[in-house]
Amino acid sequence: MLKAIQLLGLSSGSVAYRWKPHGCNGSMSFSINPLSCSTPKTAPTKPPQLLPRSSPSKACSLRVTRFQSTRSESKMDGTSPSASSSSVTVQSAGNVRNIKFCQLCGGPTKHEIPDGEEKIRAICTICGRIAYQNPKMVVGCLIEHDNKVLLCKRNIQPSYGLWTLPAGYLEIGESAAEGAMRETWEEALAEVEVVSPFAQLDIPLIGQTYVIFLAKLKKPHFSPGPESLECQLFSLDDIPFDSLAFSSILVTLKLYAEDVKAGNVKFHYGIIKKRPGSSPSDIRAYTLDHHLQS
Ligand SMILES: [Zn+2]
Repeated sequence: MLKAIQLLGLSSGSVAYRWKPHGCNGSMSFSINPLSCSTPKTAPTKPPQLLPRSSPSKACSLRVTRFQSTRSESKMDGTSPSASSSSVTVQSAGNVRNIKFCQLCGGPTKHEIPDGEEKIRAICTICGRIAYQNPKMVVGCLIEHDNKVLLCKRNIQPSYGLWTLPAGYLEIGESAAEGAMRETWEEALAEVEVVSPFAQLDIPLIGQTYVIFLAKLKKPHFSPGPESLECQLFSLDDIPFDSLAFSSILVTLKLYAEDVKAGNVKFHYGIIKKRPGSSPSDIRAYTLDHHLQS
C-alpha cells in the first residue's frame, strides 16, 4: 500500500517517495455519521468491493498541444524546480545517478548514453540491463455527496494534519478507476462508484501524473483509515484551501469549485510547474500550464 506523495521541488521515481502506512490493529468500523468522522483507530479488514463502473458520461475533445519539458542533469536533486525549463545539451532521465546497482543482477552500474539514445541512463556493467525510469500514476477520487466533497486529514508525513483527496499510487494489475476506489477505501473506508474522469494533472518535475475521478458514495458511510486522522464532507465554501496537503489537490479542488459554481463540471488536463525558487512546502507556488478542458 503505497501512498501518493507529492513534494514539488524534489525529484521522484525513487523509494524516497514511498511511505508505508502506520501500523494498525483492530477490526473494521464504520461511522454512521456521514458528515464528519474521526478516531483513526480502526483498519479495513477486507478489500474494497470493486463494482462495475459507469462509462465516462462526458466525451472529451481536447486540442493537442505539443510541448517539451526538459530538465538539467545538474538539477536532478530537485533543489531548483526552475530546472524544468532549463536548456541543456545532455539530459538524464530521472534521478539516474542514484541508481548505483542493477536491480536484476546486483552488478554496479555506469551512467552514460546508450547507443541510439539521447539521455544518460544507468547501465549494468555486468549484464548490460538499462534501468529505465518512468513517471508514476497517482489515482484518486473527488467524492460528491449532498453538494459536498469528501476530504481526508493526513495521518502520515509529509503534510501531516493537512487535508487531501483520497489518492495514491496505482498498483500493477489494477485499472486507474480501481486504484482510485481502492485508495478511497484505504483512506476513508468509503465504498464509492466512479462516475467520470475529472482531471489529469502532470507534474513532470517529480515524475507524477495525477488522475482524479468524480465519484459518489454507494452508502453514506465513511470513516478514517489508518492513514487519515479524520474524514469530513465540505461544502464548496468551506473547503480548507489554506490547509491542503499538495498543489495537485489545490488545483483539483479549485477547478472543481469553479466548474460547480459555473454549473458545468468539465474534464481538465494540465501541467503543474513549481515556481522557481519557491519552497517545496508552498503548495501555492505553482503555475498550471497547458490547461485544456472539455
Ligand atoms: Zn545487471
